[in-house]
Amino acid sequence: MTIPFLDLKSPYLELKEELDAAYRRVMESGWYIMGQELDLFEAEFAAYCGAKHCVGVGNGLEALHLILRAMEIGPGDEVIVPANTYIATWLAVSHSGATPVPVEPDQQTYNLNPTLLKAAITNRTRAILPVHLYGQPADMDPIVDIAHRYKLKIIEDAAQAQGARYKGRVAGNLGDAAGFSFYPGKNLGAFGDAGAVVTNNDNLADRVRLLRNYGSKIKYDNEVKGYNSRLDPLQAAMLRVKLKYLDEWNERRRRVADYYAEMLTGIKDLVLPSVPEWAEPVWHVFVVRHPQRDALQQALRQAGVGTLIHYPVPPHRSQAYADQGRQEVSLPVAERLADTVLSLPMGPHLKIEGLSTLIEAIQIFANRGSW
Ligand SMILES: *Cc1c(COP(=O)(O)O)cnc(C)c1O
Repeated sequence: MTIPFLDLKSPYLELKEELDAAYRRVMESGWYIMGQELDLFEAEFAAYCGAKHCVGVGNGLEALHLILRAMEIGPGDEVIVPANTYIATWLAVSHSGATPVPVEPDQQTYNLNPTLLKAAITNRTRAILPVHLYGQPADMDPIVDIAHRYKLKIIEDAAQAQGARYKGRVAGNLGDAAGFSFYPGKNLGAFGDAGAVVTNNDNLADRVRLLRNYGSKIKYDNEVKGYNSRLDPLQAAMLRVKLKYLDEWNERRRRVADYYAEMLTGIKDLVLPSVPEWAEPVWHVFVVRHPQRDALQQALRQAGVGTLIHYPVPPHRSQAYADQGRQEVSLPVAERLADTVLSLPMGPHLKIEGLSTLIEAIQIFANRGSW
């Protein structure tokens, strides 16, 4: 591929000196689980989000799962989730014992459609779990309104939205708690798996701290049946370095997105992302839509351009949820999105000068057969 979809090596090379120094610091400390490096990252990431607490955990899925456990949401409960999301959002709910109840997205923003929420609420509903999909914040005010009216918790899935803003406020600080992922490809990515819970609620933070560490605060004093889901100090040290560059790197992504928006406007049948005026997305991915998506992806591949599909199968159509009879449920908006979305190359190290072949390939594809 001359233009790969994702470049994970350049971020390391740009910060090599600082990252290598952090690596040596942790390796030479002789301390490899919990400890000061994790404490410092938690304080720094909480401050970044403007929130009171950050609790580092093993990954993004566990962040969401531990929030649900800490809220004592479980068997018999329902949690409203987007119909179009990465399956981890649903899995977190399923692992808690509760039932994920899908709501269709807004057709323009691809985020949870707040006008459909009321119809999905039953007397078993305990929480709404909006996702800031593709790095663009969900429309939180109407979601918060409904949650307050029905006394529901709000859990943000902020895995794709480190640094995104909704009406000036940072994603991850817009509900009762947020789950973050620092999977390598995320905007703030570790060099392995990592995640965090962010919240302003002291009790909730405390519960998650217990749950991530076998249910104990003091060794061998186990208060609850906890898990082993901790963010390694080695990853915490890497994330502390990269957090300093997050805003600048998000800005570089924004420049790529602006370039795409400028160059791809008006191309026949190609639908570009739509950004409401209150949203400051961080462009985790840049998603276009096309009725002949598979053929477009093939044409780009032939031109040496890597693309991905986020996501080709909506969770309800996956084998994992076949047992709940969800495969028969019709969620037409999510299904249409799965059939038409295509993610173009994106990242803080993508050279805009090198993207003309991509633009040309899309233009040629759009004009094919039209002479
Ligand atoms: C990446 C991601 C997750 C899961 O995070 P992991 O760290 O990979 O477990 C959850 N939700 C969304 C929307 C994601 O993109």
